[in-house]
Amino acid sequence: MLRRIDVSTIRKNPNAGRQVYLHAGQVTCRDTWDLGDRIETRIRALAEPSDQDVVVETAYRDGRPPKEPRLIRQSQEREVSRVHTMEPEPDYLFKFEKLEVRCVHCGKAFDYSEMESDAVEADEDGWPYTAEICPHCKAHEPLAVQVREETIEAALKRAGRKGD
Ligand SMILES: [Zn+2]
Repeated sequence: MLRRIDVSTIRKNPNAGRQVYLHAGQVTCRDTWDLGDRIETRIRALAEPSDQDVVVETAYRDGRPPKEPRLIRQSQEREVSRVHTMEPEPDYLFKFEKLEVRCVHCGKAFDYSEMESDAVEADEDGWPYTAEICPHCKAHEPLAVQVREETIEAALKRAGRKGD
């Protein structure tokens, strides 16, 4: 099912091409391990499962033999200084046409723009994804068909405009 762009709403974005920066708080986990001959503190980012632990502090103890790591302290902290670079602002702003869809769970029809979503779920790899939620019965994945959104390039072509 295609969700078409309302070509009468297409206009140039006055901020086209500009980069947006966000300060996102990243939660990091700080573990302190007793390894016998040394005390080691490691941090890792909780939101990035591929990231390795980073050793940030090591205190050696002379004369002691190494032993199995024993966790002696654990804490979480939120780092607020990290800067994420977002995609550049798009060239055009637009709205979509109304698209009536029907929930397979409760049978009620609604406009696709009323669809609710929830990004707290994780896929098999542990990454969050956005689940669609019926605005009436709150069931997840309420549509039997996949909704595809028309690209702005296709809409401009359909309207006979060429990136004016
Ligand atoms: Zn429903």
